[in-house]
Amino acid sequence: RNQLGEPQRMVGMVQNITERKNLEHRLQEMASHDELTGIMNRREGDFILEKQIDLSKRLDLQLGICLFDLDHFKKINDKYGHLTGDKVLKTIAIIVTAIIRKLDYFYRWGGEEFVLVLPDTSMDQLHIISEKIRQAIECYPWQEKLEIDAVTASFGLAVYPQNGSNMQDLILNADAAMFQAKSSGRNCVSATHVDM
Ligand code: GH3
Ligand code: MG
Ligand code: MG
Repeated sequence: RNQLGEPQRMVGMVQNITERKNLEHRLQEMASHDELTGIMNRREGDFILEKQIDLSKRLDLQLGICLFDLDHFKKINDKYGHLTGDKVLKTIAIIVTAIIRKLDYFYRWGGEEFVLVLPDTSMDQLHIISEKIRQAIECYPWQEKLEIDAVTASFGLAVYPQNGSNMQDLILNADAAMFQAKSSGRNCVSATHVDM
């Protein structure tokens, strides 16, 4: 300032934080998404499932949960190698992402197991969508694209609130239904029949 106290000069610093922001974004992405398929990982997916159950409770809506597991995936790895197995998982993510609605959630639950969370969805609707996904997986041109035999998956369904009021019960029931689908010969959709 001059003798009259008026500002004469200003000192400041400008820093480009784009790189830091990019890094933050990448770290966030790594923590919440599956590295191989690019879809949400279990940590993030389960977190969202819990939130969606709360929201459905508050809005008095149904919530569809579909758990599916690839059939004989170990054999695919054994026959064509782990890298091809990885490509199958990536392809599954692409096929399913293309089918679901914008408001649905889809995540990798574990190795070759995936979960779909469908807000405001009844068991009938969940069954239709799951069947559509099952067919899309079976009918994908696996031979042409990856030079492998057809890949299939088994599906287990559960709906809030009739098949469970919390994440544990809903996943447990969807998993039991999926096991039922495996026992029924695989490549099919099975719904939870117990009402809780
Ligand atoms: P089922 O029809 O009963 O589900 O049989 P399955 O062979 O699919 O089931 P199992 O649990 O015996 O084998 C799952 C296999 O998935 C074993 C494991 O090596 C493989 N797997 C898990 N994660 C990955 C992955 O990220 N990449 C690849 N290539 N394989 C994986
Ligand atoms: Mg499995
Ligand atoms: Mg399997």
